[in-house]
Amino acid sequence: MKKYISFVLILVITTIFIAGCGSPKDKSVNSNKGEKFKVVTTTTMLADVAKHIGGDYVEVKGLMGPGVDPHLYKASAGDVTLMQKADMVVYNGLHLEGKMGEVFENLTGSGKLIVSVADGVNKEALMKSEDSANAYDPHIWFDVNIWKDAAVELTKGLKNLDKDHADEFDKNLKAYLAELDKLNEYIMQKTAELPEKSRVLITAHDAFNYFGKAYGFEVKGLQGISTASEAGTADVRELANFIVDREIKAVFIESSVPKKNIEALQEAVKAKGFDVKIGGELYSDSIGDAGTEAETYIGTFKSNIDTIVNALK
Ligand SMILES: [Zn+2]
Repeated sequence: MKKYISFVLILVITTIFIAGCGSPKDKSVNSNKGEKFKVVTTTTMLADVAKHIGGDYVEVKGLMGPGVDPHLYKASAGDVTLMQKADMVVYNGLHLEGKMGEVFENLTGSGKLIVSVADGVNKEALMKSEDSANAYDPHIWFDVNIWKDAAVELTKGLKNLDKDHADEFDKNLKAYLAELDKLNEYIMQKTAELPEKSRVLITAHDAFNYFGKAYGFEVKGLQGISTASEAGTADVRELANFIVDREIKAVFIESSVPKKNIEALQEAVKAKGFDVKIGGELYSDSIGDAGTEAETYIGTFKSNIDTIVNALK
């Protein structure tokens, strides 16, 4: 009997404890008082989508600023506090945020609403990582159609968080998807200005494979899928030969990767008696600075395709 009573007691205590842990459902804000749900995102691309869909109902904070490399980014103590205090945390997934895995694991245990937008992408649309056979390439924002799935997944999260405004989120999503369709059109029109043999994109790291597949470019990166792997002299030599053989006009530096490797490549090409110019800076793993035309995902993608096409023409 004593045993039975203590068993029941433990059961009751456990139930109270579990009920006490905040699940997303019992969160609420008083929007009449101007309170807003707090959404924290990792990358700038995600912060931009969250702002478009969340509109006036959520307060969005992105942890990584423009030009920050997500592969190498480590969460600071302040970031962890922000995520703990947030109502919803959104990350890319597919190990883009390679140094933050443990942070997400700890948060998942807390019962907080955590969204990895890659979960919304059809597995068949994902490309295998060249760095590791068991992993997928995380740079999904470079195919606008795939990124639309990411926006849908983020919207699902917002609707779970704030059911009262589900209709508004759906409306914002619909408008945003239409804008993304227009962007897709723009990219295809710009690409068509290039003769097919000129559609070769050489950049600092392997961020552009989805872009290449979606819009018909041959893509080569000096570093691997993650910037954590270094480019070796053999990589530089091999790529230099390729540029000379194919008479490639331009290579590109990236906003979130130091430009020294691409400059070394340019030097290696020069040593072979051929000139390749640096065609400009592409935004790879972050969008552009606030106040520039590239301050949104859409603006960033337009800037990239303009830079690419103008340099390779
Ligand atoms: Zn990358």
